[in-house]
Order: sequence, then C-alpha cells, then structure tokens
Amino acid sequence: MNIPELFGENVFNETVMQEKLPKDVYKSLKKTIENGEPLDIDLANVVAHAMKEWALEKGATHFTHWFQPMTGVTAEKHDGFINPTSDGKVIMSFSGKELVVGEPDASSFPSGGIRATFEARGYTAWDPTSYAFVRDGSLYIPTAFCSYTGEVLDKKTPLLRSMDALSKQAIRILRLFGNTDAKRVASTVGPEQEYFLIDQKVYEEREDLKLTGRTLFGAMSPKGQELEDHYFGSIKTRVSAFMKELDEELWKLGILAKTKHNEVAPAQHELAPIFSTTNVATDHNQLTMEIMKKVAQKHGMVCLLHEKPFEGINGSGKHNNWSMSTNTGLNLLDPGKTPADNAQFMLFLTAVVKAVDEYQDLLRVSVASAGNDHRLGANEAPPAIISMFLGDELQSIVDSIVHHEKATSSQKTKMRLGVDVLPVFPKDSTDRNRTSPFAFTGNKFEFRMLGSTFSISGPNIVLNTIVAEELDQFASELEKASDFNLALQTLVERELTAHQRIIFNGNGYSTEWEKEAERRGLLNLKNTADALPHFSAEKNIKLFEKHGVFSAREVVSRTEIMQENYNKIIAIEAKTTIDMAMKQIYPAVNGYIADLCSIAGGKASFGASVAADKELISTLSDLNDAMYRAIKSLEGKLKAAEAMETEEGSKAFAYDVVPAMNEVRKYADEMEGLTSKEYWPMPDYVDILFSVE
Ligand code: ADP
Ligand code: MG
Repeated sequence: MNIPELFGENVFNETVMQEKLPKDVYKSLKKTIENGEPLDIDLANVVAHAMKEWALEKGATHFTHWFQPMTGVTAEKHDGFINPTSDGKVIMSFSGKELVVGEPDASSFPSGGIRATFEARGYTAWDPTSYAFVRDGSLYIPTAFCSYTGEVLDKKTPLLRSMDALSKQAIRILRLFGNTDAKRVASTVGPEQEYFLIDQKVYEEREDLKLTGRTLFGAMSPKGQELEDHYFGSIKTRVSAFMKELDEELWKLGILAKTKHNEVAPAQHELAPIFSTTNVATDHNQLTMEIMKKVAQKHGMVCLLHEKPFEGINGSGKHNNWSMSTNTGLNLLDPGKTPADNAQFMLFLTAVVKAVDEYQDLLRVSVASAGNDHRLGANEAPPAIISMFLGDELQSIVDSIVHHEKATSSQKTKMRLGVDVLPVFPKDSTDRNRTSPFAFTGNKFEFRMLGSTFSISGPNIVLNTIVAEELDQFASELEKASDFNLALQTLVERELTAHQRIIFNGNGYSTEWEKEAERRGLLNLKNTADALPHFSAEKNIKLFEKHGVFSAREVVSRTEIMQENYNKIIAIEAKTTIDMAMKQIYPAVNGYIADLCSIAGGKASFGASVAADKELISTLSDLNDAMYRAIKSLEGKLKAAEAMETEEGSKAFAYDVVPAMNEVRKYADEMEGLTSKEYWPMPDYVDILFSVE
C-alpha cells in the first residue's frame, strides 16, 4: 500500500483544486478563503462543477451539506446530483448555489427557543476553509448552520468566529513586536481520543449500553486495571485489524491519524492525530468518532465513546492540545531562541494564564456533561477545579518574575524580559503533571478535562475567545506605551502576580488540593447542573458579544439547550435503570431464589444441612426487596424532576435522580455477586471487558 498516495485520496484538497480548477478561479478562491469574503456566484458555479466532476470520478451520486447542530453529532441530508432532461433522462448537475447554501428543514434540531416552529427554515453555508470530501457515495460539504434570521444553531459558526477574534487580537500583539509579515493567527488543536472496544454480541445483550452508552449495572470484575498490564500492552489481533482499517479510512479522508495504543483500562484504547487548524481538527475529530464506530461494526465489535462505560475502571477522555500559530508557521507558544521571541512568548503565556483564571467558569462549562460528571473529580481524571501547571522550568521563570528574583532553573538563566534568553524547555520532561487539568507541555497547552464523546468545538470556542479578550486588553495597553519594553515588563509582572492562584503544581487528585483551591477562591463546580448556569453570567455574555462570537440571545439559548440535554440524558438513564431492574434483575433473582427454595426443600427431606441456602435465600430476598423500594423511590424523584422548569429540573436530576439511580444499582450489583451466573440476565463485567480476544 502506498500511503502517501492513499492519503487524502477522497478529499477535494489543494492539489485537486489546482489540478481541476482554472488557474484564475483557483487564485480567486484562495483569496476569498484567506480574506473570509463571500464567494462570487460565477466563481461558485465553476468550483461546484469541478467538485462534482471529481466526486463522480470517485463514485459519488449524491451531495450533502454536512453540519454540526447542537446535538453534538453531525447531521447530513443527501441530494442526488440527478436532474431530469426533456427526453426523459437525467444529467448529473451541481450548481454554485447548491454548493454555497442549503436549506435543510431545521425544525427538529435543538435551538433553545431561537427558532420558532413557524419559521422552521434554517440554512447551511459552505465553510471553504475545511475541504469537501467523498464518503459512502456522497460528496460531503462542511457547512455552518444558522437560523433563517441569522442566529447560529451549530458548533462550527461560533468556532470560526472565535478563531477570527483570536486572530485579530494576536496580530495586534505581533505587530507590537515588529512582526509585519504574519497575516493571520489560527489556533491549532491535536485531540487525543480515547475509546473502548467490546464484542458486538455482549453489547446486544445489554439494554443499558444500547440505550445510554454505559453500563447502569454491573459488579466489578475480579480483574480490572490493577496490574497495569493493558497500558501500552501488545495489541490484540482483532483490535489491531480494526486499527489498521481505521487508519486507512481516516487517511483517505486526509485525517492525520498518527498514534495508536492500548490505554489503562481493559478494552480501552487511544488514537491521536497530528494537530491541525482548530476548525479542521474539529471536523476531523467528528469524522474520526463516526468512522471508529462504523469500522468497529465491520469487525464485529462496538466502539464505546461514553466517558464512563464501566464503573470501577478508568473512563475515557479527550486531551485538547492547543496552541496558536501564524500563517507563516510560527508557534506562538513556542518559547523561541532569541530574547525577543522569549518576551513575546511570555506575553502570550501571560494572556493564557490570565484568561484561564478569569474564565474558569467558562472552561468548566465547556467540559460539563452528564457523562463527564462521572470523571471530573473522580480519581482518574483531573478534578472539577480548573488550575494550570507550567512545569518546573517555566515555573521558576514565572516565580522569578513575580518575586523579582533570579531564576533558578537548571540552566541557571536569569530572566529579564527582552534581555536574556529563556532556557529551552524540554518538551517531554519527566515531571509532567498528569493530574493537572490544564498543563503547559513545552510548546502548547493540554486541556485534559474534555470527555471522550465531546465535540471539541465548545472548549475551543471558549479558549479562543478568552485568550482573544486578554490579548485585546494587552494590545490596548501596550499600543499606548512610550517605552514598549518597560510597559511589557510591567504588564507581565503585574498580571502574573495577579493570577498566581490559578497555577498549581501539586497533586490535583488530593483532597488537600480541594481545600487549598477553596482558600484560593477557585471555583469547584462539581456537576453539570451546577456548572451550566455560569455560561450565561453577565460577564460572559459581555465577553462573547464583544468579540462577536455569540449574541446574548445565543448564549441564553445555548445554556438552555445544554440543560435540556443534560436532563434528557439523566431521564433516559433513570428510565433504563427502572426498566432493567424491574424486567430483568428482579425476576431473575426471584427465579434463583425459587430454585434455591426447592433445592433446599429437597435437601432437607434427606436431612442434609440447608444453612447456606437459608442464608442466601434470606439475603437475596431482602436485597431484592430493598431494590424494589429503591426503584419506587427513583420513579418518584424522576417524575418530580421532569415536572420542573429546565434549570430547577437539572438540579433535581443531579441531586435527587442520580443518587436514587445509584441506590438501585447498589442493591443490584450486590445481588449479582450472590446469584448464579446462569440466572443473571445479562453479560457481566468479565464477559464484557474481556470479550475481545
Ligand atoms: P503526548 O501528550 O502523548 O506526550 P505529544 O505531546 O507528542 O503527545 O502530542 C500530543 C498531541 O499534541 C498530538 O496530537 C500533537 O499533534 C499535538 N500537538 C503538538 N504540537 C501542537 C501544537 N502546536 N498545537 C496543537 N497541538 C499540538
Ligand atoms: Mg497527551
């Protein structure tokens, strides 16, 4: 197999455009893309024609505007290229208008009250900065999705807006440092994706996995991840075949799948791509998740992307490696080698530190979900408290700036901004703090709180916007300064000192940290219900409006959509819990008790001892009884929560319904440990976690 040839073979990329488009058209298209201008219709017609011809060669019969509504998954509606002719035949056609805008009936997508049903139309608009591609016989056109009145209904539009905001402010800073050639700054992202693979057969027999993506019941397997033998372990044949096909499918779509390995938990794996521009990385991560599921199916397996499919072993997350880069290829979070580079780096770093401190709430909201609530704060993922880790080298420099001292880094370099050279930071220093939710890793930050099912759009919208805001403030201050170096020194010193509290280098998993964080006044929003209302805090609405990312109405509607979504997910989980407990577990345990009773009766008639049977019968009866009562209590709490207004309801779901579900599970899991495997109505954790050979 020739990988370079395979790579991007189904993508209408730069090479294909150059080959298929007349030179002048290609040039004007490039220019429109670079300047973010709307596409001229004549130009669009030519591009559409070339795209269609190319797609037909690839076997496509349809095209689809591919968009990312607020459901968290992508949406597509396919239209054939066919067009009737007068002689009763068809020709294959595709117009510029069809390329540039679509009008899907949008009435069934979440809009948080923005789009009244009488005005159901929404429209999709081509995002020419993300390449079109062919998949399963259709030409996919990445698009943004808006309401007819122009309000955003998707995850792409605000992301593009936030990238623009960041670019605008970062360029102002670069100009202050005498950089005149950079035209645009883009945020870059490399999302590391964790997932589980289990056999299709056991999946089919688990109602909870099918309906909620996670197990709502299940006693821990005698073996979990304690031997640490799975992490980076040798990959099983079936999994390896899956990974190979997955890589190939991703490569064909121009996705830079790079690293694959086993993760900590049994049946858990990871895929990491090489980073790219944020909107492309977002599209690619959505595709990666979809294709993972499809390829797994072909191999008789199911790919679980849920944040916590199994209790008692690690869940899955997504590490969002984030940086900023100029169109000339300069990474702005790379410390660089000259004093000037270093000073510029320190300013960008300071902006990130200030942003993370001032907008902890937004970052926390951006990673809040029902699934992620099982991870954040639990002993495997970063805690629900946002803090930053800079690493020893950089920390000593920050300390020296804050305390006006000489740096004591290993290179013994003292730091005065714009005067001395920073030490080169080891990218993989061994002191990497794995417990930090937001860590500097040499030339980028790694935001580690994202859940594995997430679209990376939300967290990056927040990151881009909050950093843009700080850069805006910095640029305004420095542009006025008469002595730039002095003003820079003052600003960096002042801001790093003011935002010290957000930096934490210790063990983020410890209970002391929770207390310490509270002393520092850091937010600790323990669950989604508590986190979400912060999204529409006044300061956040102002921020989004100022940078043109969201209108106030869009912020409020998004908060509501997220709350509704959370409530629905917990309601489905609660109903599934009740359903499985009543229809499967309760009768199964009763069946076992009945057989135990008749066996005990038989044994007794021979005068044999039935002490064990008696004890087991009585224990199981009591537990089943207790579970029944827990189910009734859950039913009551669910009904009450569902009757409430959205925000109040989300609190009731978090604080009443979730604990009531856990209560039902507690009894069920205990009974599982006491019941004959033959009677247990579903595959257990051993069956599931070790189902793939
Ligand atoms: P690990 O975190 O496992 O040690 P790496 O540090 O090599 O692995 O990279 C993790 C991810 O970070 C990869 O997806 C990589 O492409 C991405 N990455 C590297 N540099 C940047 C950057 N400048 N911007 C965004 N992501 C980056
Ligand atoms: Mg990593």
